[in-house]
Amino acid sequence: MTHTMHHPTLSRRNFLKGAVIGGAGIATTGLLAACSADTQSNNTEPEESAPQTESTYNPEAREVANVEYEQDVAQKASETEECDIVVLGSGAGGLGAAVRAAEQGAHVVLLEKAGELGGSTSGTEGMFGWGSSLQEESDVELPLVAELIEEELIYSNYRIDAALWKRFIEASGKSVDWLREQGYVFDRVDVYKGQISAFKCYHWWADEKGSTMISCLEEKAKELGVDIRTLTLGVSLMTDNGNVVGVYARDDSNDTYYGIKAKAVIVGTGGFGLNNALIEQLTTWDMTYGTTRSTGTGDGVIMSEDVGAGTYMTSILPRTAVEGYTVYDEIAIGCCDNPLLFLNENGDRFMNEGTYVTSYMALYVNSIISQKKAYTILDQAMVDRFVSGEGIFSGWRTYKTGMNLPEFQTQLDECISSNRGNVFRGETIEELAEAMGVDPDNMKANVDRYNEMCANGFDEDFLKGKEYLTPVETGPFYAVRQDPSVTNTIGGLDVNYNNEVVNKDGAVIPGLYCVGVDACKLYKETYNYAMSGGLVSYCLYSGLNAADHAVATYCA
Ligand SMILES: Cc1cc2nc3c(=O)[nH]c(=O)nc-3n(C[C@H](O)[C@H](O)[C@H](O)COP(=O)(O)OP(=O)(O)OC[C@H]3O[C@@H](n4cnc5c(N)ncnc54)[C@H](O)[C@@H]3O)c2cc1C
Repeated sequence: MTHTMHHPTLSRRNFLKGAVIGGAGIATTGLLAACSADTQSNNTEPEESAPQTESTYNPEAREVANVEYEQDVAQKASETEECDIVVLGSGAGGLGAAVRAAEQGAHVVLLEKAGELGGSTSGTEGMFGWGSSLQEESDVELPLVAELIEEELIYSNYRIDAALWKRFIEASGKSVDWLREQGYVFDRVDVYKGQISAFKCYHWWADEKGSTMISCLEEKAKELGVDIRTLTLGVSLMTDNGNVVGVYARDDSNDTYYGIKAKAVIVGTGGFGLNNALIEQLTTWDMTYGTTRSTGTGDGVIMSEDVGAGTYMTSILPRTAVEGYTVYDEIAIGCCDNPLLFLNENGDRFMNEGTYVTSYMALYVNSIISQKKAYTILDQAMVDRFVSGEGIFSGWRTYKTGMNLPEFQTQLDECISSNRGNVFRGETIEELAEAMGVDPDNMKANVDRYNEMCANGFDEDFLKGKEYLTPVETGPFYAVRQDPSVTNTIGGLDVNYNNEVVNKDGAVIPGLYCVGVDACKLYKETYNYAMSGGLVSYCLYSGLNAADHAVATYCA
């Protein structure tokens, strides 16, 4: 896929010229402090020490995020209150941190941008855990930590921090136990999906819904006196002499701004899946047709960069989808989650389409986005099979093997008649190729070869499993473009093992922590479904980790 890079349009000099120096005392100092955070000193020339990270200067990314410059918002803030710890975001990372800090006696204020708690955590199915009491009670034979690390190392071409994995894995069972201590009842511990992972480390949420865990923690937070404010967002960090000393908040219910001074701030704003400009800047993904299920706009990443934080981009939790539809729609289930025939923009086959079933959607998506365009090719016989015949080969969540997709034909037809340019139809393969703008002879030759291999029951080109070798021979024929879909971004800010945010030289920015996906440095290649639930488990782990360190360091 082509990679669109958004070059910053504001130079450092322009940025400083545009900055309003004035307003409230903390904010003025804060601007200078932000500019000098790299050196932890307030004595350098502002222009020389201004944060140099790109997204700070990426106007498109800022526009999507709900972030304002400190010096601007300080002037709008009507009052300033105080607490021990402010947490931004109420997913596994933020809510976990809030409860853990409150348990230890800290006075915690939790700001949540949305009307309810949970963010994308509510949509998760379960969490990874090793060495939990539930595994012990369920007589699970645990793999060695070393085996799990080896799995991850090989999956990631040895490009991961195995020391971080060791810390995380060894703590993951304790995270599960901590939730149980809060009164949470897991459904069961098992493998995630049999064909993907043999490790019985997946702790399924009750009803397979992360929202049940969030409700439990919300109740606990209230019991412990956490001051929870929904529809209220952090828009800027408050700084003083290089330290983060609080946040500026906006109450969206009445559009007022105020400051909250705190001994430490824990940012857990859930990634930036909704911020295409930031995705294209920090990853190799082309989001021209991209979609997302994330709730994150990158607020925490950008406001932390404003105070000099370093960035660390790891990965994306990926899927593919069909433009105009969500990943839950039947057209996406049929065309993206099933191992049919995939051809690229030249009409060439390029992968073992069965990878989806064996690696789930992570490695599979790597193959899809390695092409300029990737089309699922299917014939009328396959459409009929989906609608009312044998059903789908493989599905996702509520869609199970053998289920029918009654709306599939209708959604295909809708796409074609909308002329969106992503779904095509032809009476013959050549006609289909013409509609797609692909060389008809090449595409016909490739489809013929595929059909021949289906007849022989052996895919000598890409070794797709025999059970998925279904010929494409009964017209009319369809081509459906698969586009990248971000379930969530992984990573963003650079943190140390205490989840303290560090600047680009690795120096701690005092008072600032990051948790959840924004801080996740576990992955390098892509999310590994063999270690399913690892991401949400890391989010919780990081929240507990940051809270423990912040309370011990700043609230003792
Ligand atoms: C549909 C879906 C399913 C997923 N399933 C899984 C799964 O099964 N297993 C897994 O490991 N991972 C899964 N993930 C990945 C998931 O995103 C992470 O695992 C994890 O739950 C993220 O937790 P978090 O605390 O970082 O962020 P979130 O849970 O997204 O919480 C962040 C919160 O911060 C709030 N916020 C944002 N900006 C501000 C601001 N400026 N001020 C105040 N609040 C703010 C948001 O509104 C949100 O509520 C899934 C993601 C999605 C979208």
